[in-house]
Amino acid sequence: MTTIYDLTFNELEEYLVNKGLKPFRAKQIFKWLYEKRIHSFEEMSDISKSLIDELKKDFSFEEFKEKRRQVSKDGTIKFLFELNDGTLIETVLMVFDYGYSACISSQVGCNMGCKFCASGLLKKQRDLSVGEIVLQVLSLQRHLDKTNERLDNIVVMGTGEPFDNYDNVLKALSIINSPYGLEIGARHISISTCGLAPKIRQFANEKVQYNLAISLHSANNELRNELMPINKAYNLEELMDALEYYSSLNNRRLTFEYLLIKDLNNSSKDADDLAHYLKGKNAYINLIPYNEVKENPYHSTSDEETLAFYDMLKKRGLAVTLRVKRGVDIDAACGQLRAKEIKND
Ligand code: SAH
Repeated sequence: MTTIYDLTFNELEEYLVNKGLKPFRAKQIFKWLYEKRIHSFEEMSDISKSLIDELKKDFSFEEFKEKRRQVSKDGTIKFLFELNDGTLIETVLMVFDYGYSACISSQVGCNMGCKFCASGLLKKQRDLSVGEIVLQVLSLQRHLDKTNERLDNIVVMGTGEPFDNYDNVLKALSIINSPYGLEIGARHISISTCGLAPKIRQFANEKVQYNLAISLHSANNELRNELMPINKAYNLEELMDALEYYSSLNNRRLTFEYLLIKDLNNSSKDADDLAHYLKGKNAYINLIPYNEVKENPYHSTSDEETLAFYDMLKKRGLAVTLRVKRGVDIDAACGQLRAKEIKND
């Protein structure tokens, strides 16, 4: 059954109009769901009993079961949620000096097969529904409600490839972004993709203001083929073509995520390749320290190596930031908690 959280604002309006009702009811219902964050239809006190009965007939009122929670010393909290069909997903709440950020999943498992990633250890079981994506954000906001705090940022960087579940992710973000929904500003929302070029083009045409991040990890086709199978479908040149198309329609700076893996992608040749690839682009590189995954053969770089690579990029004139490791004491790498839980079951 469709849950009430599956409906975008426009879809809810359409539903109401089809029932011969006034579309403004959609605003009232959205406010109950996302501003007041109620737990049942009955709490919608300015909605008529007959409409509540209709809603109950047509939609369920789903909530997640929290299966496990890990709290890191740095304040990061990783939630393992159990969905209706018993599958598990991870959602992470991070605390930064600029506020709270939610890292949400888009799929149960992932099929992209990146060699370094824990999520890929478990193949994709299914896409998340619109409601399941929205409920991750709502659940974290409910957690923050207890201390009267607010989520500031959303990053679609958890398990899954968001552009492999394109429609549901974009619908969910429209609810999260809606002024009647969770009202998180588009510029506070980021989507991270491993590089599905056709979807980048489609996304460019949406003209939405969300940030786009690309998991690059190497600017050399040979190495990227080895690390990320998606590169065999859309190589660096095709990826850049799609990104240039995006940039031609959106005046937004691109983020390139670059994981640092010891002895693999942090040489001065790698820095040269990167500088060449991004020359003249409105972009910056976010260097990410690698979180080691037991099942994978890769290692993180030492702090010295990380800083050395950062300097190499700076010297080559690139805009670069260094991401601080979060939640290293709590299996922070995407999919680690879930993979562990499923193995133990
Ligand atoms: N599929 C999307 C979003 C999920 S992955 C994408 O590829 O962008 C989110 C980010 O986490 C990606 O940049 C990914 O490469 C990175 N990542 C995966 N495994 C990691 C690990 N063990 N340590 C650090 N970052 C990791």
